[in-house]
Amino acid sequence: MKKTLAYLGGEPVITEKAPAELFRWPIITEEDEAAALEVIRSNAFSGIDITEKFQDEFAAWIGTKYAVCFCNGTLSLAAAMFSIGLGAGDEIICPTKTYWGSIAQTVTFGATPVFCNINDMLSMDPSDIERCITEKTKALMVVHYLAYPADMDAIMAIAKKHDLKVIEDVSHAQGGLYKGKRLGTFGDVAAMSLMSGKSFAAGELGILVTDDRVCYERALAYAHYERNNKNYITESTDLHPYSGIALGGVKGRANQLCSAMARVQLKYYDERCKKIREAMNYFWDLLEGVPGIRAIRVDESTGSNMGGWYCPHGAYYPEELGGLSVGKFCEAVRAEIGGDTCWEGGNYCLHTHEAFHTFDFNHIGKPTRMAYSDRDMVAEDAFCRPSLEKYCFSIPWFKHMDKEWIEKYAAAYRKVAQNYKDLLPLDDDPSDNARGRWYGTSNQ
Ligand SMILES: *Cc1c(COP(=O)(O)O)cnc(C)c1O
Repeated sequence: MKKTLAYLGGEPVITEKAPAELFRWPIITEEDEAAALEVIRSNAFSGIDITEKFQDEFAAWIGTKYAVCFCNGTLSLAAAMFSIGLGAGDEIICPTKTYWGSIAQTVTFGATPVFCNINDMLSMDPSDIERCITEKTKALMVVHYLAYPADMDAIMAIAKKHDLKVIEDVSHAQGGLYKGKRLGTFGDVAAMSLMSGKSFAAGELGILVTDDRVCYERALAYAHYERNNKNYITESTDLHPYSGIALGGVKGRANQLCSAMARVQLKYYDERCKKIREAMNYFWDLLEGVPGIRAIRVDESTGSNMGGWYCPHGAYYPEELGGLSVGKFCEAVRAEIGGDTCWEGGNYCLHTHEAFHTFDFNHIGKPTRMAYSDRDMVAEDAFCRPSLEKYCFSIPWFKHMDKEWIEKYAAAYRKVAQNYKDLLPLDDDPSDNARGRWYGTSNQ
């Protein structure tokens, strides 16, 4: 029997509220609370002893020699740029579809962000990287966007061939694996956010990891000073004379309330992520073969995985659904689930933002992005396919394997895809599809 879509007045698939545990994140126990209280009671916010312990534990967990905390992920990525020696005139290639905190920091280095295209998994497209390379290219900013591991074999081969530095932004993919190796251990340096909305959630915190002593010391020197005084910067680097002042002109010290919470979160992180992956894979298994919608996920038998599956999205193929706009598809799913999940777009493609076209940070009469470049970056941006930003939609971020509820959500997506024809006459403006966000995606 054919069912009427809730969007058209039929009975919604989901009529009650899902249990809060299914989505609650991070998982906070008395252990987190006790760790935080200890910091408050001892007024240890600005110390570094707890942060140092977390750094050691995090480095051991991810598999690098060094880790340095910062007060947020954006600053940790700026420190990563400084750590590889990014400077005026250098070009750095970044996938266009990511949060601005992956790349906007170039403004303070006089470096030119060059945006490359994304593939169907919304991930840096290795086949578009060489188009972007010139003799000024210094580095690649690889983003494991929405927890999907970027194609590191192909990317590292290109970096090697052209002698480029590689920074990984692991803000969406902490704990994820690519062919058995942790994301964040492929490039010269990796940095990531551990803020409250991410899968590794520890309040407001960022962390940089590297095996390279020079990168490590430069990252410290960028936004730390106490540590310099404590001889983390050795006599052997040219930064030694400057210890005592943060060379980036910014203070990056972590609030130990967050470091204390991060230590507790790390203890349970892998096992909690495993549960998330089971639940998310189950959801997608249920939707295998449904037209128009496909998982953005990896085959775990290759040794890769999606870590904590941050901000999960699916890929949308309107041509399989009579051209139905992804916006209308999402509206109809929301009507079935009675909730706020299922939005189209994800992050907007950065090359479409005016800040990268005209903004002149230093008042030099030229857009800062092109301040030291003779490339017409705005024209080159046309090689990115902005249309791709339309074609994804968010799905619920399940934290537990609750089969009954996961099946209900999957049924809602399936119902809309299977009854797409009923929506076509109401699809008022299929061209008005490119909605999205400059920041993260609201998702349960
Ligand atoms: C969140 C995020 C950042 C920045 O981290 P903050 O901790 O919010 O400063 C950087 N890159 C990506 C891809 C992010 O999602």
